[in-house]
Amino acid sequence: MTVLEVIQKSAEFLTRKGVESPRLQTELLLAHVLKLPRMKLYLNFERQLTSAEADSLRELVKRRGQREPLQHILGATSFCGLEIAVNRNVLVPRPETELLAEAGWQFLASRNLASPTCLDFGTGSGCIAIVLAVKCPAARVLATDVSPEALVVAKENAARNGVGGKVQFACGDGFAALPADSYFDLIISNPPYIPNAEIVSLQPEVRDFDPHGALEGGVDGLDFYRLLAAEAGSFLNPCGKFMLEFGDGQASALREMFEAQKWIVEAVREDYTQRQRFLIVRRD
Ligand code: SAM
Ligand code: GLN
Repeated sequence: MTVLEVIQKSAEFLTRKGVESPRLQTELLLAHVLKLPRMKLYLNFERQLTSAEADSLRELVKRRGQREPLQHILGATSFCGLEIAVNRNVLVPRPETELLAEAGWQFLASRNLASPTCLDFGTGSGCIAIVLAVKCPAARVLATDVSPEALVVAKENAARNGVGGKVQFACGDGFAALPADSYFDLIISNPPYIPNAEIVSLQPEVRDFDPHGALEGGVDGLDFYRLLAAEAGSFLNPCGKFMLEFGDGQASALREMFEAQKWIVEAVREDYTQRQRFLIVRRD
C-alpha cells in the first residue's frame, strides 16, 4: 500500500472507533513510524510502505483504536515547546496548562529577583516546574507529588531538558512534602479537580489511561482547593503569588473559598476555549 492509501484506511478505522481528529492522528502515527516530520508525508503520498513499516503502523493504529492516548503511544508530548515524556504514571500535560506555566514565568520575569523560589504542587510529569526552570534560569524550583512513580518520570524529564540540577523533587502528601522553612515567591498548581463521580463519564483516553490520583478532586472536585486556600498562604513570601488551574464551573466557588481565607483575587483567566480556567491570588 502507498502512504496515501494507508492514511485513508487507518483514518477510517479510527473514525469507526470514535477517535477525534482521526486523519491527523493517523498522520502523526505514520510520521513516527517513518521517522519523518508529518508535513513530509505529503511529499511521499505515492511511496510504497515496506511490510515492516505497514506492520508497525498497524500495531500503533490498533492501540490508538483502543483509545490509548497518542502521547502514550509516542512516549512523549510537547509542552511549551519542551519534550515531556509520559507514561501511565503521570497525567498527560494539557495544552491549557501551558497558559498557567506561561503566567508563572512571566510573573517571575517581572519580579526580577536574583534567585526567586517556586513551588509546583502536584507536579506529575514535571511539566510546569521544568518550564519555569528553563524560562527563568535564576529560579530555584521545588516540585512535589504524592506519587513516587510520577516523580521518577518528572526527574527524567528535568534531566532530559537540561534542568536536572535546578529542580528539586519531594514526595509526600500535600504540604507535608515540603522541607522545613520553605518559602516561595510563586506557588503554582494544577491539582486534581474532577468530581470523583464524573470520572467514569470522561473520554476513554483520560478515564482509562490518566492516573485517577491525578484527576480525583473529591465529591465536588474542590478538595485540593480547600487545602490550598487554607495552607498555601503560610509558604508564600511577601509580594508572592499563587496561581492555580481549576475545572469547569468552579470559578465562583473558588473565589468565595479563597476570599474567606484572606486571599485577594487578582485575576480569573480563561483558557484557549474561553472557559474560566485559572485563578491568580495573593496575600495582603
Ligand atoms: N502538574 C501536572 C500537569 O499540570 O500536567 C500534573 C497535574 S495532575 C492534574 C495533579 C497531580 O497532583 C498528580 O500528579 C497527582 O499525583 C498529584 N497529587 C494528587 N494528590 C496529591 C497530594 N495529596 N499531594 C500532592 N500531590 C498530589
Ligand atoms: N484537565 C484535565 C482533564 O480535562 C483534568 C486535570 C485535573 O484534574 N487537574 O481531564
